[in-house]
Amino acid sequence: MARIDLVDLAHSYGGNDAAPESFALKPVTMTWRQGGAYALLGPSGCGKTTLLNLISGIVTPSRGKILFDGADITPLSTQKRNIAQVFQFPVIYDTMTVGQNLAFPLKNRGVPKAEVDARVRQIADLLDLTPHLGRKATRLTADAKQKISLGRGLVRSDVAAILFDEPLTVIDPELKWQLRSKLKALHRELDLTMIYVTHDQTEALTFADTVVVMHDGRVVQSGTPAELFDRPEHTFVGYFIGSPGMNIVPAEVRGREARISGHPIALQRSYDALPPGAKIEVGVRPEFVDVAAPAPGLLSANIERIDDLGRVRFARVRIGDTKFAARVPSGFSVSGDTAGLVFDPSHVHVYADSRLVEGTA
Ligand code: ATP
Repeated sequence: MARIDLVDLAHSYGGNDAAPESFALKPVTMTWRQGGAYALLGPSGCGKTTLLNLISGIVTPSRGKILFDGADITPLSTQKRNIAQVFQFPVIYDTMTVGQNLAFPLKNRGVPKAEVDARVRQIADLLDLTPHLGRKATRLTADAKQKISLGRGLVRSDVAAILFDEPLTVIDPELKWQLRSKLKALHRELDLTMIYVTHDQTEALTFADTVVVMHDGRVVQSGTPAELFDRPEHTFVGYFIGSPGMNIVPAEVRGREARISGHPIALQRSYDALPPGAKIEVGVRPEFVDVAAPAPGLLSANIERIDDLGRVRFARVRIGDTKFAARVPSGFSVSGDTAGLVFDPSHVHVYADSRLVEGTA
């Protein structure tokens, strides 16, 4: 397994002379540590597969370099990069048994038989495939076939990284849960660098210790699930991660105060040097705003509906024309069409042109 460095890496399918904004992957420099579990998360078309294909060598970058353990592998073919890949749909040999399928990537590289047998047993065991080892793959369900694909990806211990491109798409929802946790356990046990592409935040957050969020060809934040939740560095991360997503509302900010629709909200930090002319917004997760009875000191909102999610209730409200979500404290009964909103200042963030502003203590 390897540490992976992306150095000023960028790609345009229209060639290097294309307008910078049209690049499918805008320049990115970052390091993925050896043995880490990474998820590339973002909506369709944001550039996840492009980045994965640049790492695997399926696509050659318009600009920049990729290093594996410090060595520049950018000119190398996919075969020479020594990586394993698992795709959306099963890639297996129907005529072989499950065991033969799992053994294939090892036999192909001349690994001694005893080692092949031991590794196949270990991987089959981890994926609950042991009872099927002697069966022909052709008779298995789509779920089982995809498990074999996962196994074939995981079976080599000498790979620089394993790349997963939405590997659970064809899996039955019930089994998805199991496999997701299983992959996490496999990562711990096998100590491999894994990169997992998905548009599903639950999949990303349960699998990865570092989630790389992409938006419009850019890496907008890379961090632990907790960091993405607590401190979104871009409004897109706030909105995309969490359910409901973060509230992002236009505001005027001066010093330790934000004004939303003219109403003052206290901030924990001071914002004195906001970039002139920037679009200023305040972001706060619904979990950190409580609805209360309307009161003179509180920002007033119109209640549209209450979503009862069992363990927590969220009020969907409007502040003027802006949609907003807030927590309904347990025991609080909503009456009437209006409510007051109580903000937790330590979780109110300020954004200038969609980027988080630090503020001063
Ligand atoms: P999805 O989840 O839908 O696969 P994605 O996040 O993986 O989306 P990419 O497939 O990397 O995104 O696509 C990024 C952009 O590059 C999109 O605008 C897409 O249309 C474009 N693109 C992808 N592959 C090609 C290609 N072979 N030729 C030209 N444009 C491409």
